[in-house]
Amino acid sequence: MSTAAPVKTLKNFIGGQWVDSGSSERLEVPNPATGETIAYVPISNQSDLDQAVAAAKAAFRTWRDTPVPRRARILFRYQQLLMEHWEELAQLITIENGKSYKEAYGEVQRGIECVEFAAGAPTLLMGSQLPDIATDLESGMYRYPVGVVGGITPFNFPMMVPCWMFPLALACGNTFVLKPSERTPLCANRLAELMTEAGLPDGVLNVVHGAHEVVNGILAHPDITAVSFVGSQPVAEYVYKTAASHGKRVQALAGAKNHTIVMPDANLDLAVKEIIGAAFGSAGERCMACSVVVAVGDIADPLVERLAAAADEIRMGNGLEEGVFLGPVIRAAHRDRTLGYIETGEREGARLVRDGRKDDVAAAGAGYFVGPTIFDHVKPGMKIWQDEIFAPVLSVVRVDSLEEAIETANASDFANGACLFTDSAAAIRKFRQTIDAGMLGVNVGVPAPMAFFPFSGWKKSFYGDLHVNGRDGVEFYTRRKMLTGRYV
Ligand code: NAD
Repeated sequence: MSTAAPVKTLKNFIGGQWVDSGSSERLEVPNPATGETIAYVPISNQSDLDQAVAAAKAAFRTWRDTPVPRRARILFRYQQLLMEHWEELAQLITIENGKSYKEAYGEVQRGIECVEFAAGAPTLLMGSQLPDIATDLESGMYRYPVGVVGGITPFNFPMMVPCWMFPLALACGNTFVLKPSERTPLCANRLAELMTEAGLPDGVLNVVHGAHEVVNGILAHPDITAVSFVGSQPVAEYVYKTAASHGKRVQALAGAKNHTIVMPDANLDLAVKEIIGAAFGSAGERCMACSVVVAVGDIADPLVERLAAAADEIRMGNGLEEGVFLGPVIRAAHRDRTLGYIETGEREGARLVRDGRKDDVAAAGAGYFVGPTIFDHVKPGMKIWQDEIFAPVLSVVRVDSLEEAIETANASDFANGACLFTDSAAAIRKFRQTIDAGMLGVNVGVPAPMAFFPFSGWKKSFYGDLHVNGRDGVEFYTRRKMLTGRYV
């Protein structure tokens, strides 16, 4: 007789209650490191969503009038609870996403930082006044919430990305319906549970699991005012256009192909360490991953040699094991797609310097593993240069000058992040002035801004106007009233 506990089907969180989806459709959620089923996620339907939106709409009537310091106090309590549950949350992330425990631990920190920013609501939500716009006339700007916000999130940051959205949205007085990735749905439920423990009133935060039907429902729902989306480029574009056509405010963060330029004067030790972390950390499944290195001049040979040697040292396996750096990719289909890209790179004539297919994948476990892979002599225009592979596959392009390097990076359709390794102030200035990307790193591998700055991708990496986090986030989740008054 088996003693293993039966695998549970997750519930939705609606109006403060854990409820079964009305849909009988469900998907398996495997641990990507082992292939073992850890849960089933319901593929909820329109009726589930309607109930969540109705709960959020009802809760909005009181939540919007809840004094801002009281809202902030709930977020302070939430921050405490997240700190207390740090290890547990990191483990959950590793189990459902596959990234190493160390990376997951860092992700929890990034989530907590968003809550800390949102807890500054009393200051963030202040308006502005001019007492004398004319004789006896004054004018002031006041901020108000937008209403019910829908959030749609990807698999690669099951905690951080939802935390980009709901803590600040709630701090601003909105209520929220979250549709987490159906591939990593567990963390969202735990985040909602802890929010309830922190004292959040029923209906202010709701979680509806599912896929396209719930997303389409959010985009068209007449009672949802604003949509925050993070995911792949084609879906981001679709979400942006569809939600906007239904009169909603939208921010849609999309895919990436981040270039890292290495100048001949770069500190090679630092560049190699940072690039290895940025290219292969989280199995390359990061929107801020380094996927293309642009080597300038004669640094190319030693750089490629050192990157390959450092990649050889990477330990692959279950992210819960001590010392494992590279976990699996999210699903078998994603592993197969990645292997397809490695074949494409060879066919396109790039030189395969390190072939992750040859790593001892079997020893790593029964999950979906691809070893660190490096292509040299990649040319702009090749598929492996152009497409977001979202896996541990790094391309190296060789160029002769900084100008050519910047031109190469700027030729990409994507423009999330870009990095430069150099000691030259003039090169740094030129890079900052002329690179087409919203998040820049200088001698840094992953230039992801902290929560009090906007996460500011450009071009096809972002659709909308106001980014997530920072003042942009506050602007996105509030609308302004201008008052002109004569008090005589
Ligand atoms: P994805 O686009 O497959 O899924 C994102 C969300 O959209 C999920 O909740 C999913 O259920 C939903 N979805 C997917 N296809 C849909 C469709 N056809 N119609 C309606 N809804 C749909 O993205 P993913 O694979 O989960 O995440 C990885 C992607 O997210 C990468 O492209 C990565 O670069 C991007 N990302 C971007 C940022 C950023 O800040 N720009 C941050 C994290 C991830």
